[in-house]
Amino acid sequence: MGHEYCGIVEEVGPAVRSVKPGQFVVGSFFASDNTCPICQAGYQSRCVHSHYVGAGGAQAPRLRVPLADGTLVAAPDLPSDELIPSLLATSDVLGTGWFGADAANVQPGKMVAVVGDGAVGLCAVLAAKQLGAERIIAMSRHEARQKLALEFGATDLVTERGDEGVARIKDLTDGLGAHSVIEAVGTQESMTQAIRSTRPGGHVGFVGVSHGVQLPGRDLFYAEVHLLGGPAPVRRFLPELIDLVWNGKINPGKVFDLTLPLDQVAEGYRAMDERRAIKTLLRP
Ligand SMILES: [Zn+2]
Repeated sequence: MGHEYCGIVEEVGPAVRSVKPGQFVVGSFFASDNTCPICQAGYQSRCVHSHYVGAGGAQAPRLRVPLADGTLVAAPDLPSDELIPSLLATSDVLGTGWFGADAANVQPGKMVAVVGDGAVGLCAVLAAKQLGAERIIAMSRHEARQKLALEFGATDLVTERGDEGVARIKDLTDGLGAHSVIEAVGTQESMTQAIRSTRPGGHVGFVGVSHGVQLPGRDLFYAEVHLLGGPAPVRRFLPELIDLVWNGKINPGKVFDLTLPLDQVAEGYRAMDERRAIKTLLRP
């Protein structure tokens, strides 16, 4: 929590080369050198020199970002006020949803299901649409979130869960399950839902932070699906995502349906906890 950030560079250390004071930048929640073999392979969140930027506290007027050259990506110019929510979204919720879609191997013309209708799940719907999926099934029971899912590109909504949820997904996917399923919750129920909703040979991208999830080996064995997940290497996707936002191709900032000043942060969390808000944007 509180590890998403964007802002204007005020000062840089003597070793920093690629960002300059005055630039508007976005960074990932993991600082990375972007040069080690793990980064070069596209997994900057597990960089051999990674630091968790959230530990520095991004819900603050100022933030020190380690490894700035490898972590921050500058926007082409200072953005207009309307672009800021979408640029902030690239820092985590969009970057994470995008990684979920990438990890689930979303391809043009394929059938995709998204488990979870929080900001990340909704951004995964948006990513699947951008990546050319033909059918995008959003599992959601919440009206405001269903509406945004449809706006972001969902073609179908499924409100059922458990066995009924799996049956509905199969109904919508020729009885086989989706090619690609994005899990964006991190609970036992959602992870099981995701694996069971995937056809054999299909892919699950799991980006919900796992809370006590245990996978029975035998079920996993017979599911015969690809699994890839973890903390999203947002840095891999940032240049492309910033470009899409900058050129008005996507508007992920719509997930922020509540804006508060920084000193009302507790109310922001309360609103999300009570489902009065999908996601809160804090302004210093
Ligand atoms: Zn690295």
